[in-house]
Amino acid sequence: MRISPFRAALFVSTLLLPGAAFAATYDVVILGGQVIDGTGAPAYRADIGLKGDRIARIAREGLKAEDGAQALDAKGLVVAPGFIDHHAHIATNIHEYPLAENFTRQGITTIVASLHSGAQPYPLKPYIDSLRVAPNVAFFTGHSFARDRVLGMQNRAPTPAELLRMQKIVADSMRDGAIGLSSGLVYVPANYAKPEEVIALAKVAACWGGIYVSHMRDEGAGVLDSVRETIQVAETAKLPGQINHHKVQGATQMGWSVQSLALIDAARARGVDFTLDVYPYTASSTGSSVMFPSWALAGGAEAYRARIADPAERKRLEADMLRILMVQRGGADLRKLQFRRVPSDPAFDGKTLEDMVKARGLKGTPQDAVQVIIDLQAKGGFTAIYHVMDEADVERIIRYPLTMVDSDGDPVGFDDGFPHPRTYGAFPRYLGRYVREKKVLSLPEAIRRITSMSADQIGQKQRGRIVEGSFADITVFDADRIADTADFETPHAYPVGIRHVIINGQPVIRAGAFTAALPGRALTDRPRPDRVRPDPSTPGCPSA
Ligand SMILES: [Zn+2]
Repeated sequence: MRISPFRAALFVSTLLLPGAAFAATYDVVILGGQVIDGTGAPAYRADIGLKGDRIARIAREGLKAEDGAQALDAKGLVVAPGFIDHHAHIATNIHEYPLAENFTRQGITTIVASLHSGAQPYPLKPYIDSLRVAPNVAFFTGHSFARDRVLGMQNRAPTPAELLRMQKIVADSMRDGAIGLSSGLVYVPANYAKPEEVIALAKVAACWGGIYVSHMRDEGAGVLDSVRETIQVAETAKLPGQINHHKVQGATQMGWSVQSLALIDAARARGVDFTLDVYPYTASSTGSSVMFPSWALAGGAEAYRARIADPAERKRLEADMLRILMVQRGGADLRKLQFRRVPSDPAFDGKTLEDMVKARGLKGTPQDAVQVIIDLQAKGGFTAIYHVMDEADVERIIRYPLTMVDSDGDPVGFDDGFPHPRTYGAFPRYLGRYVREKKVLSLPEAIRRITSMSADQIGQKQRGRIVEGSFADITVFDADRIADTADFETPHAYPVGIRHVIINGQPVIRAGAFTAALPGRALTDRPRPDRVRPDPSTPGCPSA
């Protein structure tokens, strides 16, 4: 006798839950909620029945608690598809944080590791096969990683043979289930690359049905050129493009999102598939290298120390850094740089650049700040929060119809270090501050951006919506209460208003508490399966 998948699922669920009534039709029922289905449609009253990893029933007429082996109360709450985080730093360490608590407590059920710099799991397949985690995860393959492996810190273009090796790394990861190519062109050594190099790698991602995402080369004075470059890569390599965490930053660039979004409108009008994501904060967070011109860090730490010991080189460096501080970062207000971690002087974790400059007996001029940063870099650098964006730009970008949401967060242990508060609060802040309080978007539209729209972008048409037959990734939250509580002074603080989080049919958070379930899967489907094709002109493409 053949057992249908339907019967098999029923059999397994009754076996696993011996105490449950055998008459239960569903594994889980969600009762009393208002469904916002992720398509942008208005809320409606319905109960939901889950079976196995799927949404089996949406019952407008209602279900009873005994219809499910377990019942979740959603009275007065919104039942939405689980949120999809389009960019977070989980690529090499998510296995150390199986519950991904600072993400799942935000209602996030899928995390996209669109790595911008540094390491990535390579080969990818053994890593994703080994994962036992709560959320679903998807991986990109990084331009930075490929360049670093082949060229190290060298500031030059690859030879044809070297480019081939880089393309092979991208092809290996795409074959293993990466969903596209990511770049972090602001970082060294990635920013030694010309657009042609990125295009050559993006073409490999394209023929595997992948997409291209980028942390752009410049989010300050050069932001418009960087948007043009990102569009150029997508348009030339013929694959969907996406700006990660779009922002305009720097004391002299406020308001420039009007032009940056107009560039995207123009690209869309000529047929380029192009989108973006945002994190809802006016401060960014990254390493100290962004305070430096890229030439200054070429060749690694020893070369840097030699440069700052050379009076002529040092003078040139100071001038370039002063310009970066004044134009690209917070200007003369040194409180706008807040240290996260200073390994050479941990007493300053969480303190500002002004604090440090004054502690060294200096006056606090921008020139003083440059000297301190040069010195800190020689001792290993730092990570910092840069308060350098304008609220009006953040709102304008959130409102833009092609904008999704990301946390740009790190998996963290509670009270470990000094993370950007987005790590704990990006999605609740989006729904609390920007949707409920500022009314930048309606709630159904805001939900659509972080569910069905985000799922479609990564090729997950069976996620991100509450329809029968779809995967049961579901977040149940209180729309009147949802809010972030982490801020720049107290970053380790969980959000409020999120009641239940279900991933692949299994409650991961039930009534605010973790269940210990680890139902997350690696999402390796091709984002654009219709575009998978052999391409003899591009090395690394699938063979015919
Ligand atoms: Zn980034």
